[in-house]
Amino acid sequence: MQSFVNSINVEFGPDEFATVEGFDRWLGRNGFVGVAADDLDRGDAVALREALRALLRENNGGEPATGARRTVEHIARNSPLVAQFDDTGALGLAPARGDVREVFGTVLASVVAAVGDGSWQRLKACKEHRCEWAFYDRSRNRASRWCSMAVCGTRSKMTVYRQGKQTQQTKG
Ligand SMILES: [Zn+2]
Repeated sequence: MQSFVNSINVEFGPDEFATVEGFDRWLGRNGFVGVAADDLDRGDAVALREALRALLRENNGGEPATGARRTVEHIARNSPLVAQFDDTGALGLAPARGDVREVFGTVLASVVAAVGDGSWQRLKACKEHRCEWAFYDRSRNRASRWCSMAVCGTRSKMTVYRQGKQTQQTKG
C-alpha cells in the first residue's frame, strides 16, 4: 500500500503512474507479472492512489476526505475481494479477479487488514505539503507528523519561523 501511494514523489517526481509504460514497470516490480494495463486502468490507479493519500492526510490531522471515500468505494466495487487462506494458513481477504483489478484489490485488502489490526491510524501522509510521502508512524504516542524529522520536520519549522518573523515585521 505504501509503495502504491509512494509511486509518485510529489516533490521531486517522477510520477511512475504518469504513463502506461511506467505503471507497467511498477506492476512488474511489485510482483504483478503478466498483468496488462491500459490507460483507463492507469487513470483508476492514479485516482485510487490520490484518494488513499487524502485518507492518509486525514490520519495526520488533515481535513475529512469525503470525496476520497467515494472514490475508494467506487474502485472497490469493481475490485471484489474474497475470503481466502494465505500461504501461512491464515484466513484473510484476497482479490477475486486476476486482471489489473487484482492490483487494486490487493491494495484495498491491505487497507482493510490495516484497519483491522489497528495499524491504519499509524499510516500517514507527511504533513509537509511539498512532500506528502506515505510513512508509518512508529512513535509510541502516534504523534509523528513528518516522514522525516530531520528533513521535513525542520523545513516545516523553518516555514513557521519565517512566517512568524514576517508577522512580527508587519506588526512592527
Ligand atoms: Zn516528508
